[in-house]
Amino acid sequence: MKATVVGVGSELIEGRTLDTNTAELARDLLDLGQEVAVTYRVADRLAPLVAELRHALKGHRLVVTTGGLGPTPDDLTREAIAEAVGAPLVFDPEVYRRIARFFAQLGRPMPEINRKQAMKPAGAQWLENPRGTAPGFLWRSGDRAVVALPGPPAEWRPMWRAARAALGLVGQGARVKVFKTFGLGESDLYLALGELLGRGRDYEVSTYAKPWGVEVVVRGSEAVAKEVRRRIQRAIWGEDEDTLPGLVARRLAAEGKTLAVMESVTGGLVAALLADVPGVSKVFLGGMVSYTGEAKVRFGVSPSVLRSHGQVSRETALAMARAARRRLDADYGLAVTGVAGPEDLEGHPVGTVYVAFAGEQGGLAQGYRFPDQGRAAVRQRAAYAALAFFWSRA
Ligand code: AMP
Ligand code: MG
Repeated sequence: MKATVVGVGSELIEGRTLDTNTAELARDLLDLGQEVAVTYRVADRLAPLVAELRHALKGHRLVVTTGGLGPTPDDLTREAIAEAVGAPLVFDPEVYRRIARFFAQLGRPMPEINRKQAMKPAGAQWLENPRGTAPGFLWRSGDRAVVALPGPPAEWRPMWRAARAALGLVGQGARVKVFKTFGLGESDLYLALGELLGRGRDYEVSTYAKPWGVEVVVRGSEAVAKEVRRRIQRAIWGEDEDTLPGLVARRLAAEGKTLAVMESVTGGLVAALLADVPGVSKVFLGGMVSYTGEAKVRFGVSPSVLRSHGQVSRETALAMARAARRRLDADYGLAVTGVAGPEDLEGHPVGTVYVAFAGEQGGLAQGYRFPDQGRAAVRQRAAYAALAFFWSRA
């Protein structure tokens, strides 16, 4: 069954609000075994909205919309769906009272404009909104269905679950397998995966470059996923929802070990990534941002190391990792130094990065040369490189 998602809102076209709803819903539909080949974003304007909905309904048996169910005149999804499917809007006094109660609970009078939120296309069934005023609805005719959801994710998620149940959409197990790799470029992966990357089969293998390495996504075949894993095993650090800081934290917790960081080029990004992990304070003690040579020395890097090897070197990275470990009495120190640009530093081109870790058993350092794609990109890749190196070698 072909399905599609329509994000409604002029702010989505402009990027003032990033449209995450269509992706989240499309992904859920894919996990439910539905075919989703296209999604839409449409402005809050009646004529284009009706036209796109009609078009979407021609090629899809299920059309899910988000946004545009608010009470103000710019919210037109309800009107547009009614027009596109040719059903008049009808007023529901019961729902009107429910919306009034929602306002009463907040201690506010209900503005008259909210009245239109109690309207739905004739024959549609309501999708109750436990977290807001805008109820959604499910319209069905023959084998076609339209699900109208409000914009805020916290409001539509429970409503979408109800719609899924009403439509009898149940999970068939994830059809999408994600392998997360580090250290191989897309062309290396191309060589390793060869003929599996071809198109026009009932499965699909794709690669996507991310700051944490290249993701290999297999759609439509568990057997192919297994074969992909076998071929690139060495480069894989995680699968599906795994994150590098999450895995590092989990490993440290399992071993009962602690970590401290010292960061130069990343300016605290490694620490920030670790801080994203719930419960990380049990294993991540803290860190230092040693942006200058002087700071590195104050935090415990020997001036002679800096004099002989410079700010950006294997030796300095290692000395930083050792100093971080010492300073915070941690089991491991992790460090990163490099050149984010725009200028070269001490003769090293932009994108040069060294990462190192130190532990009881000694330490290890590694150099990278990332392409100069701007400061933000170099810093992100350096932060993930530090975590990936620690994850794979410590
Ligand atoms: P609306 O239901 O159109 O009034 O949207 C209300 C709010 O929901 C917006 O201000 C956004 O914060 C959020 N929202 C709407 N559409 C989207 C979308 N496609 N992706 C993410 N957030 C959205
Ligand atoms: Mg809107």
